[in-house]
Amino acid sequence: MAEHQDELVQFIEADQISETAQPDSFWSILLVDDEPDVHAATCLALKNLTIEGRPLHFLHAYSAKEAKEVLAKSNNVAVAIIDVVMETDEAGLQLVRHIRQEMQLYNLRIILRTGQPGYAPEIDTIQKYDINDYRTKTELTQTRLYTSLTIAIRSYSLFKQIEVLAYQDSLVNLPNRNAMLEELTKHQQANHAIALIDLDNFSDINSIIDDSFGDAVLISVAQRLRQNFSEHTFIARLGSDLFGLYGPTEEVNPDNIYAEFAEPFLVNNTESLRLSATTGLAILGSKQLAAAEVLKNAGAALKQAKRLVRGKAVYFKKEQSHAARDRIKMLNMLRHSLSEQHLNLYFQPFVQLDTKKVIGAECLLRWQTPDGNFIPPDIFIPIAEQSGLMIAIGEWVVRTALNWRKRMDEHVDNGFKVAINISQVQFTEPSFVDNFLILLQESGVQGNQVELELTESVAIESFELLETNLKQLQAAGVHISMDDFGTGYSSLSVLQNLKLNRLKIDRSFISGPMATGNFDMAKTIITMADHLDLKTIAEGIETEEQCQALLAAGCQDGQGYLFSKPLPEALFIQWLHEFEQL
Ligand code: C2E
Ligand code: CA
Ligand code: CA
Repeated sequence: MAEHQDELVQFIEADQISETAQPDSFWSILLVDDEPDVHAATCLALKNLTIEGRPLHFLHAYSAKEAKEVLAKSNNVAVAIIDVVMETDEAGLQLVRHIRQEMQLYNLRIILRTGQPGYAPEIDTIQKYDINDYRTKTELTQTRLYTSLTIAIRSYSLFKQIEVLAYQDSLVNLPNRNAMLEELTKHQQANHAIALIDLDNFSDINSIIDDSFGDAVLISVAQRLRQNFSEHTFIARLGSDLFGLYGPTEEVNPDNIYAEFAEPFLVNNTESLRLSATTGLAILGSKQLAAAEVLKNAGAALKQAKRLVRGKAVYFKKEQSHAARDRIKMLNMLRHSLSEQHLNLYFQPFVQLDTKKVIGAECLLRWQTPDGNFIPPDIFIPIAEQSGLMIAIGEWVVRTALNWRKRMDEHVDNGFKVAINISQVQFTEPSFVDNFLILLQESGVQGNQVELELTESVAIESFELLETNLKQLQAAGVHISMDDFGTGYSSLSVLQNLKLNRLKIDRSFISGPMATGNFDMAKTIITMADHLDLKTIAEGIETEEQCQALLAAGCQDGQGYLFSKPLPEALFIQWLHEFEQL
C-alpha cells in the first residue's frame, strides 16, 4: 500500500506540473484495480503508444476509495479503466455511481473490466452511468484494449469540445454564464465578491451605429477586463452587454471597476469610445449559497444601481428585496415634503479661476426627512423622475432659485448668475420653456442672470426639441451649460450644431476616484470646447493643484470644495463676504 501511495503522489505531481505548463499534452488514464499485476500488464500493453498524437499517462488506484481520492485531486483524467470486483463485488459499480452522481464528472470516460464473466452490469446501468465499454479481462487483448481506449479518448475529446462551446462565449472569448455558475458552485469563497457590470446605453451604440460595431465594443471591453484583473478573478460574459467578475474583494470592488472605464476604449483598432457601466455587487459570506442565488443577489443590486445611480455601483443588501416598498414610501414622503415645504436649496459658488471672483452659484436640492435625515439628491431625484413628481419638484426649484437670485441683488453685481439643474423629464415636458419664461418674468430676474444645466442625455434623446427650446431660452438671454460633460455620449456634431454657452467638466475627471491619470480627459474637453467657442467650468475642484492645472489648461471657471461646499442661503452670503475680503 505504501509504495502505491508513493506512485500516486508521483503521478499527481507530474499531472499538476504539466497542467499549468502545457495543458493536455498527454491523456491521463486512471487504472483502478486491486491486483498490482493488472496495473503492470496494462501499462506494458499500452507502453509507448500514442492516441491522437498524444502519449498516455497512467494514474494508479488500488481500491475504489483510492480512486475517489485521485479523481478529487486531478481534473483532467480522460478515461478510467475500472475493475468491477474489488473491496466488494460491487465496489467498481459503486465507484462509477459516485463518479457520475457525487463528483459530477460527466466528461470522464469509463471502461469497466472484470476477472470473470457474470459480473456484467445491466444494460440500463451502462446507459445510466454512461459507461463506454465493458470487457472481461481475458477479452481485453492488447489490440482490443487499445481500440477501446482510442474510442473512449475520442469521445472524451468531443465532450471537452462541447464543453468549450457550452461554457465559452465565442464572440468575446470569455467564459459564459454557465461557466460562471459552475465557478460559483465549485469555488465559492468568503471575502469574494461577484460584480455584474452592465454597459450603459449599449442599445444606443448598437442602434446608432450597427451591430458589428457593438460586437467590437464588447470585444474591447472583454479584453480590457482580462488585461487588468489578475488570474484570481474569474471573468465572464453573462449576457449581451453584461459582464461578470468573481474574485477576491480586494480586486472585485467599485473603484477597480470604475477604473476600467476611466480611459476610452479603442474599438476596431481605430475609434476611441468612452463607455460607462452600472454595476451590482454581492459579497459572499461564509454561508455557501446556490450559484443561481449569488447571481440573483448581484442582479438585484444591479437593478437598484440602474434605477438610482446609473454609471456607478451598488452592493447587494438583504433589505433590498424591500426596496420597491421603500421606494413607494420614499415617494410619498417626498410628495409630502414638497407640499410641506421641507425641500431646500443649497448654493455652491462658481469662481473665476484666475481672478478668484465669484461669478455665480449652482442651486442644489436638499431634502431633510421629518426624522432629520438628509437624503442625497442622487437617490431621490431618479425616483422622483420616474414617478413624474420631478416635474412639480423641478418647477419648485426654478421658482425658488429665481427668487433667491432676486434677493441676492443686494449682495452681488448684475452679472452674477444662478445656475439651475434641469432634469431631462422636466426639459422634455412640452410646456417647459413657456412655464420657465413666465416664472422668469414673475421673478424680475433678467434672463442673462440665469444659467440652465442640462445633461448630455437631453441632447441624445431629442435633438430637435433641444434645438427649438434652446433658441427660445437663449433669445431671452438665458445661458445653457452641458452638465457632467464627458460621462455620456456627447457626439461632437451635436455640440457643433447646438449653440451652447458652456461645458461643465464632470467632477470624476477632476477629483473623483478615477481622476488620477485621467486629467488628460479634462484637458481634451477644454481644448475641444475652445475650438467650438464654448467656455468651460470644472466641478469638484478640491485642491489648489487641481485649480492651477485647470487654469494652465485654459479652463475659465470652477466650483468645488476648495472654494466652498454647497451652503444654505444665510451661510452662503456669509461665505461670500468673507471670500471677497481675501
Ligand atoms: P451635479 O449637477 O453634478 O452637482 C454637483 C455635485 O457635486 C453636487 O452633489 C455637489 O455637492 C458635488 N460637489 C461639489 N463640489 C464638489 C467637490 O469638490 N468634490 C466632490 N466630491 N463633490 C462636489 P449633490 O448636491 O449631491 O448633487 C448630486 C446631483 O443631484 C447633482 O449633480 C445633480 O445631478 C442632481 N441635482 C441636485 N439638485 C438638483 C436639482 O435641483 N434639479 C435636478 N434636476 N437635479 C439636481
Ligand atoms: Ca449640475
Ligand atoms: Ca456633475
